[in-house]
Amino acid sequence: MISVQEAQSIISNNIQPLGFETVSLKNTGNRVLAQDITATFPMPQFDNSAMDGFAVRAVDTEGADKSSPVILKMAGVSSAGTPSDIILKPSQCAQCMTGAAIPDGADAIVIVENTSGFSDAGTVQIFQEANIGEHIRRQGEEIEKSDVLISRGTCITPGEMGTLATFGYEKVSVMIKPKVAIFVTGSELVEPGNKIKIGQIYNSNLYMFAGLAEKSGVEVVMKEVIRDDKDSLRRLLSEALQTCDVIISSGGVSMGRFDYVREVYNKLGVQEYFWKVAQKPGKPLFFGRAESTLIFGLPGNPVSSFICYVEYVHPVMQDLQQKKRDPKHQAILTENFPVESKKHRYLFGRSWIDSKGKLLCSPASKMGSHMLTASLESNCILESPPGKQGLKAGDEITINPLNWRNIE
Ligand code: AMP
Ligand code: MG
Repeated sequence: MISVQEAQSIISNNIQPLGFETVSLKNTGNRVLAQDITATFPMPQFDNSAMDGFAVRAVDTEGADKSSPVILKMAGVSSAGTPSDIILKPSQCAQCMTGAAIPDGADAIVIVENTSGFSDAGTVQIFQEANIGEHIRRQGEEIEKSDVLISRGTCITPGEMGTLATFGYEKVSVMIKPKVAIFVTGSELVEPGNKIKIGQIYNSNLYMFAGLAEKSGVEVVMKEVIRDDKDSLRRLLSEALQTCDVIISSGGVSMGRFDYVREVYNKLGVQEYFWKVAQKPGKPLFFGRAESTLIFGLPGNPVSSFICYVEYVHPVMQDLQQKKRDPKHQAILTENFPVESKKHRYLFGRSWIDSKGKLLCSPASKMGSHMLTASLESNCILESPPGKQGLKAGDEITINPLNWRNIE
């Protein structure tokens, strides 16, 4: 049996990133950038108005107020998308809408609320003095041309997508998504929607894996429920070895009489790197490789499967896409945590920030590896290496936030 650290480093040594491909902007959501994105032009691209109003020469508005307005001559209109070729002369102004180019000669905008308003009249009354530069967005004030906006390895979320569009990127180079097979094994498994007999259970792991795989941003290409039967296992696993970058299975890797998964992997030529890890839950964790396909055999108990996915499989999905791993944090326990003498202990838990800004946490009260409902009240996984004594309320512990849940 190896330690969690050894298991993690064996896995890391077997990861080869998958390379990149070009996709259209509309398909970049949740993908990982394979290129640095630079500004193709300064932002703003040209001096433009931040408000609807009048472009003026500030000097012409000196002394203007409500009781003694300055009267300026209308030289034209500059609207967003339709710049004008007006050049303001002394005592002239131009109507200038938000986002529209500032006419040459103008050096400030007076907002329409401080004037007699937009009209077709040849003049306008200005009720307030303007300062040079007021309400003007200057070329390049946000971003200079060629600045790096988003670096390689960043996951594309709505902000990145909008920024790519802002700078005219339609084709974007992104990391290839891992192709993944998810299998659950067990002759007792029944699909939700069917009647269940004594001794049978509904298959939860396939749905859980599908959701977790989606959170990891991978492409699930095979998804199967397999009976504890060597032939079906062999057929489906060998197909997955041909087509997938990662195979994830649950169940059938323990010491049970019908636990054939490990044997079938071995027969199919998978190189086994480890099979047991000193951890609870998830001790019978299998990891192997066949050519470039990585194989994870997770134990069948739903909590073991869930935690092994989050702790072992999810980071691999990130590494394959050269994405920065999600950070773990240190938090203060508000309750005792049951440390194991020889095993790394993981438990679902809840974390929150108290009124003083401290990150606190507590383990879920349901601790069994079959108790998946513990995940419902949880937003993180708490973990402690083996030790002689349990951790007490007030002690620090490592937490791994479930990145689709908020820390309260
Ligand atoms: P195993 O690792 O195959 O010995 O399974 C351990 C426990 O997890 C057994 O009680 C199984 O019935 C249960 N189990 C295995 N696979 C699933 C699944 N897909 N969904 C729910 N429970 C499962
Ligand atoms: Mg089983």
